[in-house]
Amino acid sequence: MSEIKKSLNFLEQIIEEDLAKGMDRSALKFRFPPEPNGYLHIGHAASICLNFGLGLKYDAPVNLRFDDTNPEKEEQEYVDAIKKDIEWLGFKWADVLFSSDYFQQLYDWAVVMIKQGNAYVDDQTSQQIAEQKGTPTQEGTNSPFRDRSVDENLALFEKMKSGEFEEGTHVLRAKIDMSSPNMLMRDPVMYRVLKRAHHRTGEDWKIYPMYDWTHGESDYIEKISHSLCTLEFKNHRELYDWFLDRVYDQNDLRPKQREFARRNLSYTVMSKRKLLQLVQEGLVNGWDDPRMPTISGLRRRGYTASSIRDFSETAGIAKRDNVTDLALLEFHIRTELNKIAPRVMAVLNPVKLVITNYPEGKEEMLTAENNPEDEDAGFRTVPFSRELYIEKEDFREQANKKFFRLKLGKEVRLKNGYIIQANSVIKDDNDEVIEIHCTYDPDSKSGSGTEASMRKVKGTIHWVSIQHALEAEVRLYDRLFIDEAPDAHKDKDFKEFINPDSLKVIEKAYVEPSLVTASEGESFQFQRLGYFNVDADSSNDKLVFNRTVALRDSWAKMEQKK
Ligand code: ATP
Ligand code: MG
Repeated sequence: MSEIKKSLNFLEQIIEEDLAKGMDRSALKFRFPPEPNGYLHIGHAASICLNFGLGLKYDAPVNLRFDDTNPEKEEQEYVDAIKKDIEWLGFKWADVLFSSDYFQQLYDWAVVMIKQGNAYVDDQTSQQIAEQKGTPTQEGTNSPFRDRSVDENLALFEKMKSGEFEEGTHVLRAKIDMSSPNMLMRDPVMYRVLKRAHHRTGEDWKIYPMYDWTHGESDYIEKISHSLCTLEFKNHRELYDWFLDRVYDQNDLRPKQREFARRNLSYTVMSKRKLLQLVQEGLVNGWDDPRMPTISGLRRRGYTASSIRDFSETAGIAKRDNVTDLALLEFHIRTELNKIAPRVMAVLNPVKLVITNYPEGKEEMLTAENNPEDEDAGFRTVPFSRELYIEKEDFREQANKKFFRLKLGKEVRLKNGYIIQANSVIKDDNDEVIEIHCTYDPDSKSGSGTEASMRKVKGTIHWVSIQHALEAEVRLYDRLFIDEAPDAHKDKDFKEFINPDSLKVIEKAYVEPSLVTASEGESFQFQRLGYFNVDADSSNDKLVFNRTVALRDSWAKMEQKK
């Protein structure tokens, strides 16, 4: 028993305690409440995996509730993108709901609160109100409008609603306590005048409810048992409960707000506001740019839904703020792709290699294993001929013993093929090698079982046959920021830390012809290079690949060297 207890996260423990105290299991219900003002990011994935994970664990419904009380920033495009991302992550919501569905109910409750003497209309500007707020150590000052009669308040609130007041001239405030040690309890604003069209309610409303007034009441309407939010709302809990108490009926389920730490990721910014800046200022190519920490960016980059779920699970749910290493996310996709991605050969930075003793015009099909990590993946054939491309970095005229690739006078194995020896080079006017001349050992074919084929040579390099290879564009991505915490600098803007080399485009790389059927989203291991997937920009005329992740964590190595 104690062992099971240990593996529960602290929120699950709270739920278990509620059940032990007699709460009905069938009353458990959760929600994920995004504001449709941007695309979801990997931080949201933590909250999604948490809430929908609890739903699965307790066989409880989970609502998708759009928290759409701010018409200035919200759009249908975001609603659609958020739904798509949650479905892609593999979760199913019980109901799709909108806070805006509750505007009438919230209004009616606000009228009740006015009648109870718990809310009043304030005619002051937001600046005046702010000046009266006081400080944590100094009490606030009551508004001169705080003790208006109920009738006057009702009349004014009605006028706010019908659009008779301009923006910024009147607000409805809860009448709580201007001396509360919790600043949020100092007569918080419940409604403001806002003459903006809403993406769902259109021009119906001239006033919009504030987050604190909306969120708990929406939970109450939907009968959410546990309303889980991030730590910055901890101080709001007192207000959440105060608002609930104004409308709560003893016979109903009473929602409970509990807080957990936000997911922060190193080398990333995660606020939607900042991500929107990157999009609007053209610093990335849209919300789904493969360098973005958005779910849509990660998907386009080649991340799988299961790798994101596994990452969320491993990173866990914490009580205190912390930063998760980006390398952990990369580790999860690398581990998964190692198991499932077919191996292929691609040459990104080519130099020509001629096998002078291989007959001109001859071609043969070599057998290659699709994935040594997966027995069922089978084999494919790769065409071989006299003229090949290999990577420039895989050849040196001279090199020391540690260089296990091709050098003059020495042997190397061509992956899935023969052992070759480099004999001479042709250079251009700049002294750059443009052609390497080799000879091959015809008895050394991989897997042929001959003595020559078993001969051990130190290095194996990948290649493609020039006449058979397909051209492809390859986009090499690196971290979008060079700083571990780009938005933690007080005196510098986070955009100053953008990695200038976060995208390197190779216009003309060469890939083996089996990739002719590769389709959007498919992932491959380009042997010795990394994991790549087919980008949405790919067409029949031109293949485009994204590097999802390198084979090894090069940043970890750099950190060690420091
Ligand atoms: P941002 O600051 O990125 O704009 P937000 O909190 O304003 O995020 P919402 O759309 O309000 O975004 O978030 C929906 C839900 O996701 C909320 O319950 C919120 O607490 C949670 N959430 C947002 N960001 C994170 C994060 N980094 N880690 C964990 N949960 C998060
Ligand atoms: Mg928010």
